Amino acid sequence: MRCQLCLGLSWQPLCKHCLKTILAPTPAFRILESGLKVYSFYNYNDIAPLLHTKHTYIGAKIFTQLGKHTFFEFFKTFELPRGIYAIPIDDHVRHGYSHSAILAKATQPYLMPLYCSLRAQNHISYSGKSRAYRKTNKRDFVVKIKEQVDIVLIDDIVTTGSTLKEAHDALKKHDVNVLFALVLADAKEN
Ligand SMILES: [Zn+2]
Repeated sequence: MRCQLCLGLSWQPLCKHCLKTILAPTPAFRILESGLKVYSFYNYNDIAPLLHTKHTYIGAKIFTQLGKHTFFEFFKTFELPRGIYAIPIDDHVRHGYSHSAILAKATQPYLMPLYCSLRAQNHISYSGKSRAYRKTNKRDFVVKIKEQVDIVLIDDIVTTGSTLKEAHDALKKHDVNVLFALVLADAKEN
């Protein structure tokens, strides 16, 4: 196949050269008002076309590659005790796979993915919606974790942080300890 970025011949949708150059991660973090620390690896605008593949066939491969390139590499240098779970936000399957579940899988073996444990009841799209809209149309998460565990929240994008905050609040009510969140890209609105 051809690399989605440079159109050069490649075994994967993203070639090694592009991963090393234009897709070299730029790790950053921000702290939400709730105190949750959110690590990200790209600016949203820099990889938006790749993130938009998430509802296509090739998207599963691209998310697998990006997850390994960012999350997996991050944990190589980040000292964490074993026994921590990775919780993908709302990993219900759309178009044959869940992008957040793919990203959670990329944290192995450093974290243990716990699939289908945090499901939104409201799947309305937040794309282009205001902070006020997001606040009045909550995700309404159902938590399916019974033990008291330490976890890292996983998603593809942070925008206003409202989804992560709501997930954090829902998990706290179930005595789940959220250490921090990991997302591929930060789409902070200025
Ligand atoms: Zn390339």
